[in-house]
This record gives sequence, structure tokens and C-alpha cells, in this order.
Amino acid sequence: MIEPFRIHAVEPLRMVTPEHRAQAIAEAGYNLFSLRAEDVLIDLLTDSGTGAMSRDQWAAVQHGDESYAGSPSWYLFRDAVTELFPFRHIIPTHQGRAAEKILFSVVGGPGKFVPNNTHFDTTRANVESTGAEAVDLVIAEGRDPRSRHPFKGNLDVDALEAFVRRVGAENVPVVMVTVTNNSGGGQPVSLANLRAVREVCNRYGLALFLDSCRFAENAWFIREREEGQGDREVADIVRDMAALADGMTMSAKKDPLANIGGWLACNDDDLAEACRSVLILTEGFPTYGGLAGRDLEAIAQGLKEAVSHEYLRYRTRSTAYLGEALEKLGVPVVVPIGGHAVYIDAGTMLAHIPPLEYPGQSLAVALYGTGGIRSCEIGSVMFGRRPDGTEQAAAMELVRLAIPRRTYTQSHIDYVIEVCERVLEDASRLRGLKIVHEPRQLRHFTARFEPLG
Ligand SMILES: *Cc1c(COP(=O)(O)O)cnc(C)c1O
Repeated sequence: MIEPFRIHAVEPLRMVTPEHRAQAIAEAGYNLFSLRAEDVLIDLLTDSGTGAMSRDQWAAVQHGDESYAGSPSWYLFRDAVTELFPFRHIIPTHQGRAAEKILFSVVGGPGKFVPNNTHFDTTRANVESTGAEAVDLVIAEGRDPRSRHPFKGNLDVDALEAFVRRVGAENVPVVMVTVTNNSGGGQPVSLANLRAVREVCNRYGLALFLDSCRFAENAWFIREREEGQGDREVADIVRDMAALADGMTMSAKKDPLANIGGWLACNDDDLAEACRSVLILTEGFPTYGGLAGRDLEAIAQGLKEAVSHEYLRYRTRSTAYLGEALEKLGVPVVVPIGGHAVYIDAGTMLAHIPPLEYPGQSLAVALYGTGGIRSCEIGSVMFGRRPDGTEQAAAMELVRLAIPRRTYTQSHIDYVIEVCERVLEDASRLRGLKIVHEPRQLRHFTARFEPLG
């Protein structure tokens, strides 16, 4: 297939030499987050806020109304959100993590437990910063990079029920399901699984919230893979997903195709009131949250484009194109290929590097040094430090090549494939790293490393 768009405004890429890259990554303490973006050729660090907006989104930006309260842009935004997610209360925020922060500061706290299929890094940190415990209960196939289960993001319903019985339903303020499961390889969750989770929640009187950042890709996979869903509109599948939940958190920097934004939504009036009180303290008035009117309009238009079948077919096909090419080369990747990213199984590719010498970080540094590609470690650097201060290997050592939406062409991706091939040839020569500085929380963003050996 071809890209279902043509280019309307161009951004130059900066070519830098291998010598320049070697110096830049050393100065960055071997942390890809600390690089200057200008020193990166193909930036696959994240798909968050890095996509290209459409002509109609830029037109919507011009249409933005910056009234403090009750702006027409707010009503456009609210209506676009409730068209897909018909929750009673929509609370705009500047990003997904602000929605998480507000939600967990209201429902979290010491002695509480929040189950999820797999917590995203900021979600986990926001749960833990209240003193609550974040528990990952993805199905066993979801932890096996080679399992071809069609819905590896599914939550283990039996484990959920056993867990709720053990800790007591009164200590579980909310059950979260992340669609698609970002930290678990971008794998989707089926409608059947959401229904089963809903039943457990009903049985124990629990609230179910969706971490919905990649709702459209998840719905597309349901359409493609789940029995009886193949003829349905993605928008209808999204509404089915929403109808099973009591609320949601969202980062508009993902599937809503915007560069900033997010929201928290719920049906519970008391919860909404408590959350709005925090919102006013930290984000802004409830009709704009942390956003400008123009951002609200860009999101409203982006939501319409996000559920287009033509777009989603391109999105998932072009991601699979990269994943399938890497598989063919013998690069171990998480299969099936997820919607927004290809995850290299660095634990297998660099099996000679022990988990706590960070094989994923070593691979990410090599991809940058070899070809100027920026990726993201999702392994023991990101998840190895426990709240009690001990260090423990993560379930998987992954390197994520996240694909910004509508941004790179097939020839850019062909270049990425060539660079991966070169790194694979030299894989046995790569060495691990040690951490020489780390902050107390979310260490992967700012830690500094030194190469071993
Ligand atoms: C990105 C993301 C978040 C946080 O959203 P931000 O807008 O980056 O704050 C939460 N959950 C998941 C699954 C995400 O991918």
C-alpha cells in the first residue's frame, strides 16, 4: 500500500557524521532522552505528540477561540470526545499524565492497589507516588515476545479476581486496562476480555477505567482479529469499548493525532467534582484544562481522522512493514507487530549482556551510533528500580521503535531496516552499561550511563 496522503509542509532532516554522534551520545551520558533532537536523523523515541497534523487540523488551530471560560472550542472538543466516549464528565488536561495525576491523587493512597494489564511508566509512577501499589496482570502470553496470541494485551481475568479477593475489593479503587498495551509491546485487548474484566468489576463493585491512548489502533485490531467484528465501523467498536468502562484517561498526543493534550473522563458525579477541584489547582478552568482553545480544536478534528479506516489500515500496515522486515533479517521482535511501534527483543538479541547491564540501552545506543536512529529502552532501565529501592530485572528487555503518525515515508523506514541489519551483524561486540547517576523516580528520563568494558 502507499501513504494515503501527500506532503504539504516539509521539515529538513540534519545529517550528522558518526564522529559527531559518538561525541553527542557521550555528552548525553548515553541516555537517548538527553540528546539534542537536531543530532538525531530518524527519531523513533516516541509516537507521543510527534505526529504530523493534517491540513484540516491546522485549519482548526486557526479557528481556536481563546475565551477563558465556555469557549466554543471547548464545546467542539467535548462533543468530539463524547461522540466516541459518551462519559458524563469530560475533564481536559495538558497531557495524559496530568489526567493520571488527578485521578490517582483522588482515589489512590497508602494501602490501595491498582491492577492494570501493564502500567505505562507515568501511570505506574502516578499510582506509586500516592503510596498505592501498581500491579501488572497481563496474560502469560503477553510476557512472551514470541507468542502469536492475537490479543496479547488482555488482562488475566482469573488473576484479577484472585488478586481482588486477596487484597479486598475496598482497597482497589479502580481497575485499569491499557489499550493498546504500550509497555507490553503495543498489543491489543479484545472486546471479549474487556467484557470479562467488566464482569469481575461488577461482581466486586469495582470501577473500570481505560488508559485509552491508542484506542483507535486497538479497535482496528479488534476489527481485524476478533470474531464477528470484521464488518464493523471502528467508531462503533470504540463506543463498545467505552460502554464497558466507568471512565478513561487519555493522552491526545497518541491516537487523537495532536501535539499536546489529554483528558480524564468518568460517569461518577462525586469523583468528577473531586477531580475538577484538583484540575483547577494544577491545570486550569474546567473548560480548557491545561490547553489553549486552538489545541482543543486540533484534538476535536484529530479524533475524526483517528477512526478513519483508510488511515488505520495505513498506520498498522506501515508499522508491520518495519516489523516484518526485521523478522526476515533475523532480528528478534515482539510478535504480532503492534500498532504504533516495533519492539526489538534486546534480551534475546544481546543474550550475552545480563539484564542489569541493560541490553536494551546498549542496543538503543548502537542504533544511534550506527545510523542516527533514536529509540527507547523499555526494560530494566525503565522498570528495574522498585519503590523499596531495590533493583530487579524487568519482565522483558525491549527496545521500542515508535513510529510517529504520518511523519516518515517508506524510504525512511527502509533506511531504519538497513541500520538494524548493520547493528545485528555486530551484535556480539556490543557491551552493557552501568548507571552512574539516577533520580529517585522515572530514572530512564534523566539517568546517566557509562559503557562497560
Ligand atoms: C503516553 C502514555 C501515557 C501518558 O500520556 P502523556 O501525554 O505522555 O502524559 C499514559 N499511558 C499510556 C499507555 C501512554 O502511552
